[in-house]
Amino acid sequence: MRLRDEWLVVRVSLSRLEAVYLVELHKMADEARTGTSALAARFGVKGSSVVDVVKRLEKKGLVVREPWRSISLTRRGEALAEQLIHNHRVIETYFHRVLNLPAQLACSEAQKLDSLLSWRTITSMCRALNYPTTCIHGEKIKHYRRCK
Ligand SMILES: [Zn+2]
Ligand SMILES: [Zn+2]
Repeated sequence: MRLRDEWLVVRVSLSRLEAVYLVELHKMADEARTGTSALAARFGVKGSSVVDVVKRLEKKGLVVREPWRSISLTRRGEALAEQLIHNHRVIETYFHRVLNLPAQLACSEAQKLDSLLSWRTITSMCRALNYPTTCIHGEKIKHYRRCK
């Protein structure tokens, strides 16, 4: 079963760090180990600081922690992670193409905004760019019906 409307379903406010972890967990989903230690290793931080963020994500219904220290995304978490990836790629592409920011700066600026900008602003960027299919790193951008 698919969510009827990913944009409307997942409207959860996230801190910058929570957003970063959620996207990382989404990217790690295919890997065997997605526990707190794998996540901590990924970011070069202590396990305890990871646990803290993961607990907050769990409270928001975005991840579940299972035995054997594995963390998996709920469907809601999955949808939100995909949304954040969409937003990131659209914003950086906009900054690069329209504002002529160098790719690296465009990417880091986008990282500050991808969980903060409203849907309306993001989709205006999608439209202004004529729904680009790849971002500045050559990664695919999957648009939503609601982007149009
Ligand atoms: Zn980027
Ligand atoms: Zn879009």
